[in-house]
Amino acid sequence: MGGPTEARRSRARLPFASMDETMDTVVIGAGPAGLVAAYHLQRAGVPFVVLDASGRLGDSWRARYDGLRLFSLPRYASLPGWRIPVRGFPTRDEMADYVEAYAARFDFPVRSGMRVRRVGRVDAGFIVETDTDSYACASVVVATGMHTRPVVPALARDLDPGLTQLHSLEYRNTGQLAPGGVLVVGAANSGTDVALESAAAGHPTWLAGRHPGQLPVNIDRRSAQVLTPAFMFLHRHVMTLDTPIGRRMARQLRGHGVNLIRNKLADLDAAGIVRIGRITDVRDGHPVADAVRCHVSSLLVVPDGPSRSSCGRRRRLCRGDGTSSPRGRPPPRSPGRRR
Ligand SMILES: Cc1cc2nc3c(=O)[nH]c(=O)nc-3n(C[C@H](O)[C@H](O)[C@H](O)COP(=O)(O)OP(=O)(O)OC[C@H]3O[C@@H](n4cnc5c(N)ncnc54)[C@H](O)[C@@H]3O)c2cc1C
Repeated sequence: MGGPTEARRSRARLPFASMDETMDTVVIGAGPAGLVAAYHLQRAGVPFVVLDASGRLGDSWRARYDGLRLFSLPRYASLPGWRIPVRGFPTRDEMADYVEAYAARFDFPVRSGMRVRRVGRVDAGFIVETDTDSYACASVVVATGMHTRPVVPALARDLDPGLTQLHSLEYRNTGQLAPGGVLVVGAANSGTDVALESAAAGHPTWLAGRHPGQLPVNIDRRSAQVLTPAFMFLHRHVMTLDTPIGRRMARQLRGHGVNLIRNKLADLDAAGIVRIGRITDVRDGHPVADAVRCHVSSLLVVPDGPSRSSCGRRRRLCRGDGTSSPRGRPPPRSPGRRR
């Protein structure tokens, strides 16, 4: 991200006389990360524009499942300069509305409905192209998020087409499930949320995948919330790749999801959810785990972080030679392996 100097601004302007617009900085994506960048650019007096693909700010949150509630209290989930105006853990819609209101509050120059198709690098900076416009700029901030492309295990191809199959990016609520048994694949935070919803709606529910461990406290209790500052301090300053203990924890986390933060194994057991191992095979159109065929009518794939990071896309957007070409698809993940 570049500074606001006049030299850089004119550098960006000169070679791009044919561009629709010149700008010091273009921020791609108006989710929380893009808006934090906008906040600091505005404070530094850098001319910028934020381009966002969605029709309405906050839609990256509104597109998630209805029952989602954050694990982070407003104190930790808020963007700089304005705290989320709710008590307790924000819901999905409260977070979405906050993102929208935050951009309006600071009057950021956000252009919605502008999907960036390509970023090309040239000597003097970058060219950012949407379907309708192009921008010449000295700096680009790519803040397009992590959860946009579904990751589905390759063996899903062999499942009975009569089975209702949903990825967590498509799942909103239990109204989408077929009557009968439900298999949730992915036993981390979102997977356990969804399994609990399914069981509460009366579906016999199986949950496949390795238990990633759980926090030893109930985060919804006031007593646990008192400990949050200490935990956040550890999280930010001790459990990092800069410390031996942090590196050890990172090695332990590899290959499975983040610990369960809100849900507990006891909640799953109390709801009658049957926990099974990883799905290793498909037999006669039905998923197989622990050598047993699961006869269910719906299958929900909920990897930890329900989708692929956009890093691959970021690389494609920003090839150094100013051209763009899709990279080869990454190799399929082994069944049941979570991010
Ligand atoms: C189920 C779930 C639960 C979560 N719970 C929590 C939680 O409790 N606490 C927490 O801190 N975090 C949580 N997260 C993580 C959360 O997603 C991030 O903290 C936050 O939303 C990431 O912000 P972001 O700006 O990086 O991405 P996003 O919020 O995804 O925003 C990306 C923006 O980029 C735009 N965009 C994408 N591609 C383009 C393009 N080509 N051109 C233009 N615009 C584009 C999108 O429209 C979107 O507005 C959760 C995530 C998920 C999936």
